[in-house]
Amino acid sequence: MTELTLIAAFEAVDHGAFEGRHLIGGAWRGSEDGATFDRLSPSHGILVSRSAQGGAQETEAAIQAARAAFDSGIWSQATGKSRAAVLLKVAELIERDAEKMARLETLETGKPITQALGEVSGAADLWRYAAALARTMHGDSHNTLGPDMLGVVLKEPIGVVSIITPWNFPFWILSQKLPFALAAGCTCVVKPSELTPSTTVMLGELLIEAGLPAGVVNIVLGYGKPVGALMAEHPAVDMITFTGSTAVGRSIAAAAAGTLKKVALELGGKNPQVIFPDANLDDAADAITFGIYFNAGECCNSGSRIIVHEDVAEAIVERVVALSRKVAFGDPLHPETQVGAIVSKAHQQKIDGYVREAVAAGAQVRLGGAALQIEGLPGEFYQPTVVSGVTPDMAIAREEVFGPVLSVLTFRSLDEAVALANDAAYGLSAGVWSENVHTCLDFARRAQAGTVWTNTWMDGFPELTFGGMKQSGLGREIGPYGLEEFLEVKTVAMRIGRTRAPWVKTR
Ligand code: NAD
Repeated sequence: MTELTLIAAFEAVDHGAFEGRHLIGGAWRGSEDGATFDRLSPSHGILVSRSAQGGAQETEAAIQAARAAFDSGIWSQATGKSRAAVLLKVAELIERDAEKMARLETLETGKPITQALGEVSGAADLWRYAAALARTMHGDSHNTLGPDMLGVVLKEPIGVVSIITPWNFPFWILSQKLPFALAAGCTCVVKPSELTPSTTVMLGELLIEAGLPAGVVNIVLGYGKPVGALMAEHPAVDMITFTGSTAVGRSIAAAAAGTLKKVALELGGKNPQVIFPDANLDDAADAITFGIYFNAGECCNSGSRIIVHEDVAEAIVERVVALSRKVAFGDPLHPETQVGAIVSKAHQQKIDGYVREAVAAGAQVRLGGAALQIEGLPGEFYQPTVVSGVTPDMAIAREEVFGPVLSVLTFRSLDEAVALANDAAYGLSAGVWSENVHTCLDFARRAQAGTVWTNTWMDGFPELTFGGMKQSGLGREIGPYGLEEFLEVKTVAMRIGRTRAPWVKTR
């Protein structure tokens, strides 16, 4: 254990619990039955937030408020200029409050404070980018249909959108969806994860301050059932966009089928990085280390399996193990911490279960493989873990571990590497490391993944669309395609002059 870099508790946390309420039709309210739920910090064990626990009544009221706001035209018919002005103001307010929000996000998620701050202030840029789209989006015109016809294709907001988000990047994921839905002219009902409700509530306050009309964004706090399930099946909702596990994504698609509403899903990943022998091994090892420990591996984009050419497998494992010892695990409030707490005890046990099962099946733990005690903190931590000798049939190679656990597989030829990379139910992202551009391009074109990184890992920009193939999801977020998801397309065909020949012969 002394061979790891650990950061003990460094400040006494005196944090009054944040009180979260629902935002419905522009008013903050508790639940009708007075029910609440608590979130304890996974790192510090203290009470971070107490939130109103929504039921069917609050969900119904929020959906009706969003429906009435949409149908009134107050936002759906507002100019792109006025929508953009609100989105830009929200971006400014997020930056003003970033530190306050980041601290709450750290205490609710367990992630390091510097990364929470990066997530919140980085999200402001998504709001700015969406503001630009609000002013520049347009449909098409068809001027080639003959002298007496003109066709135009209009883009219209799809309507009322349900937004359901997970606990791992609560503010970032909300900002991948909400500003794009608002830029399109939609109205929304938002449900954050019950583990991380508070930064969504703080954002609600900023939306009001920025001048968003009442009812355009409504927030209901609570659990998947009944709140999320009702948001998925309700006939007054036109679209549901969900980020979370593949299992819940499937149940949402089934619930939405009753009304055939549009469904957008961002689900899990089992993302491979393939390392060829001519790669820069130092760069690759650093990116692999980042890819597996960022957000404690609780990341849909976690680079959780590496597929390394046999000739360099040992050299890569040695480098990654050496780097892993230098990554600072510990108190997420410390500015130097790089990896914080695991979100819950139950999740930590699930992570450990994958490692035990792999070892029982013949894999070797090269580092870590157990829970981690951080001095002065009662919370849940897990050691940086590298498991080699993993075979494609093991659960650790196929399922999302969602923890700081790297699986190492090996290959001999490019064809074998591609086959191993694509041998997964998921298809979110993939990476390739080689100094040969032909190898990188060949791999990029054959990889079944929504994003392929070459000689880098997890770089993202508001301009670059994100989403998954296969069971990693449906639809795309951010970039111009992220806006398209929230738009309906309507064709208007217009005749110029009285040139239409009658269909019914009257003589
Ligand atoms: P989860 O599926 O358990 O929960 C996500 C959200 O769905 C929460 O708000 C939850 O309350 C709600 N929910 C639960 N049951 C529901 C139901 N029956 N109907 C409607 N809503 C319901 O996921 P999680 O544990 O919060 O997040 C981890 C998962 O999210 C991982 O699988 C991860 O890969 C995935 N994820 C994907 C992306 C991506 O962009 N692809 C990003 C982040 C996380």
